[in-house]
Amino acid sequence: MEPNILIVEDEPAIAEIIAYALTTEGFHPSHTELGEKALALVAKGAFKLVILDVGLPDLSGFEVCRRLRTFSDLPVIMLTARSEEVDRIVGLEIGADDYVVKPFSPRELVARVRVILRRLDRPQAPDGASSFQVDAAKHRIQFRGRPLDLTRYEFRLLQTLLAHPEQVFTRPQLLERVWPEAEESGDRTVDTHVKTLRAKLRAVDAEADPIQTHRGLGYSIGKV
Ligand code: CA
Repeated sequence: MEPNILIVEDEPAIAEIIAYALTTEGFHPSHTELGEKALALVAKGAFKLVILDVGLPDLSGFEVCRRLRTFSDLPVIMLTARSEEVDRIVGLEIGADDYVVKPFSPRELVARVRVILRRLDRPQAPDGASSFQVDAAKHRIQFRGRPLDLTRYEFRLLQTLLAHPEQVFTRPQLLERVWPEAEESGDRTVDTHVKTLRAKLRAVDAEADPIQTHRGLGYSIGKV
């Protein structure tokens, strides 16, 4: 199971208590002691939330949060040792979602994690092309900020659909664009790849289904 909560805390005992509380509640925490490391880990994707200590050995938690916000909307709960720091956190100038003051109850912290994640899990607007970022040069596509692990044909298929949002592509049109060199491919080839692609998108979010099926016609992806 991929870790889904990142704990950024330089005191091993506290990190351990948090990790234990999260694990018993079914989360999969990962831990780092450094702000720079945390930013690198978040950039790679896969986390749902970050628990971030204000006092770290390299960067301050404030700085980490501010830098994280330049590329990610990931929810952040700050841990602070001093109630004076709360003003800065709740002032939201740094973009944190919540905070707890040390010493805190691990149970309360986990409850706050749950509240934030539940808020995010509420049904949102359907996904469309704007939920994706295509890096054509590197043959990479991100969905909701998470990198997708795509085969060559899955990549081309998704790239084709994304290049023309709301346009319905018939199976022959997709075959021509995605499998120009393959002679033995047929309609089933398209359907099979759409199926595996959908499974990979659902791995990011079980409810996600941005690829629309148009019966008797083909496939499209919406704009927004
Ligand atoms: Ca600390």
